[in-house]
Amino acid sequence: MDKDIKQIWQNCLKIIKDNLAHEHLYKTWFIPIKPFSLEKNILTLQVPSHFFYEYLEEHYLDLITKTIKRVIGNQVMLQYTILVDTSDKEKPITTLLSSTTSKITKENKPKPAPLNINNGVNSVNPFIMPGIKKITIPSNLNENYSFDTFVEGECNRLVRSAGYAIAKNPGKTSFNPLFIYSSVGLGKTHIANAIGLETKKNFPNSTVLYITAEQFMQQFTDASLRNERNQFLLFYQMIDVLIIDDIQFFIGKKGTEEVFFNIFNNLHNNRKQIIVTSDCSPADLKLTDRVVSRLKWGLNAELGIPDVKTRIAIIRQMLKQDGVSMPEDVIEYLAYHVNTNLRDLRGTLISLIAQSSLNHKEITLELARQIIDSIVKSVKQEITIEYIQKVVCDYLHIDVDKIFTSSRKSEVAQARQIAMYFSRKLTKNSLATIGVKCGNKDHSTVLHACKQVDNHCSTDKKFKLSLEDIEKQLHKI
Ligand code: ADP
Ligand code: MG
Repeated sequence: MDKDIKQIWQNCLKIIKDNLAHEHLYKTWFIPIKPFSLEKNILTLQVPSHFFYEYLEEHYLDLITKTIKRVIGNQVMLQYTILVDTSDKEKPITTLLSSTTSKITKENKPKPAPLNINNGVNSVNPFIMPGIKKITIPSNLNENYSFDTFVEGECNRLVRSAGYAIAKNPGKTSFNPLFIYSSVGLGKTHIANAIGLETKKNFPNSTVLYITAEQFMQQFTDASLRNERNQFLLFYQMIDVLIIDDIQFFIGKKGTEEVFFNIFNNLHNNRKQIIVTSDCSPADLKLTDRVVSRLKWGLNAELGIPDVKTRIAIIRQMLKQDGVSMPEDVIEYLAYHVNTNLRDLRGTLISLIAQSSLNHKEITLELARQIIDSIVKSVKQEITIEYIQKVVCDYLHIDVDKIFTSSRKSEVAQARQIAMYFSRKLTKNSLATIGVKCGNKDHSTVLHACKQVDNHCSTDKKFKLSLEDIEKQLHKI
């Protein structure tokens, strides 16, 4: 049997390898997987961390599912088990991260027990037929996405404070529904879970349910097929806090939207809390007017892109959770360069950790550069004003925060001017934006700064050389 499963997995790996664009992807994401067991058509794969599992699920689930169906048969189901560093004998012990490089230490114990995945739909199905009066509905919340692990920043202040207020008083604040929106990867799922967990902490007997819009639709479709629509509605009437993630999925799904409308009305009338997330504001959400108007009743709050400082804090938080350490310069480099969203940031981080431990390499700036180049292709590598400020200030040995003060000290003023000059030359930002970001100045100050730098350049050779040096560093991005 042992040999069998190894052989089976080898056959799967061959197909997977053939279907991947790059060998390094195969090395990073598939070599570390161990076939754990194959029993009763359930293939259990062992993965090194929760990070790893999430990344696989997001990027390669389709490939894995198709492959194992081809090799093992259509009936096969996929399950993951995660290596956990714990003395709990029932769970496998991790060795990957702790034994390979001294830079990486594993201190924390990620908790998740084995997760069941079946064709991409989380198999924890919260839809339980009512009948028995008091049933416990599993909340389906992700314990890792709590307020404790959610880094505070200006970008999430409003959602966070509304979230805390809701968790203290679910359904009874004016934030009902709470509508959280942002583009992908900015923390909607995380904070929606955090509010659910916090409510559970404050009110252990309350019934909280987290469900993705996709799962909701799936349940509804199944219930309809079995003629169990009423049970479906009854089930949702038992919920005290309903969290529906990614409601944009309802667009064009008339039946599901209608049943959601009914559930919404029922819960809202009974002062139960509704939390919804979406990739756009209610106004831009192409659902029926009556649903949109209800979604606008409570608080609509947007999650913004975190600034560099918050991104650094978020990286630290992610590393802490995974029990991994990383040199400070690499953390900063990632924070400055992966500025699209936090999912990209997390993907880059995971790749970096995986690469480093697999190849027994230290995590260095060079490795970080390579990873950003090769793995997260989608990451926009544009030069930002923030990055310019950092490079200029590092070059001139000035604390970058000084740029934002009103200091008129000559070296600070010069750094500010040079930063403005390069921001104009190398970014697409308007003079006004550059001014605001460089110490709240107006556009004429920026223009003046650029002229000053130009003049200085034509009269002072040393200055000119320094500028060229800085520009070279900026292009090293
Ligand atoms: P979305 O649902 O908006 O696509 P997610 O909630 O999945 O985004 O967030 C993407 C990743 O970034 C997750 O790993 C999440 O834990 C992390 N993340 C997002 N915001 C924060 C934050 N403020 N602090 C810590 N981690 C965060
Ligand atoms: Mg999400």
